[in-house]
Amino acid sequence: MLSYEKLKKKTAKSSFRSGFKMDAEDVAYVEKKGILAIREHAKRFLRERLFSFNRARDGRQTPYRGHPVFKAQHATGICCRKCLQKWHGIDKLANLTEDDIEGLSGILVSWVSDTDNLEKSGLNGSL
Ligand SMILES: [Zn+2]
Repeated sequence: MLSYEKLKKKTAKSSFRSGFKMDAEDVAYVEKKGILAIREHAKRFLRERLFSFNRARDGRQTPYRGHPVFKAQHATGICCRKCLQKWHGIDKLANLTEDDIEGLSGILVSWVSDTDNLEKSGLNGSL
């Protein structure tokens, strides 16, 4: 699995991936819940939505808004099993392992904590 820093360089070349930003609402949510809870949410989304490949639903299981982790998932290629295979080299037909869930949730939390991912307008940059 790529480190967050290496992944960040790769996703920077994709205007789709790099277009996702944390807005004021996302920042407020992270500050209210705390980063440990955010990591637990990330693990839960991975287990509930990405654990195994579902051909009919793949590509539609991750909303675009409603939780900062959803944005992080699109920004880092952790949104569906096809993207997990393309960006993270995880065979889409294999169920996620605990190691995968640890590593991927770490990447998602890194994205949420990275001040480069804050929307530029109207934020004071504190996170
Ligand atoms: Zn995807």
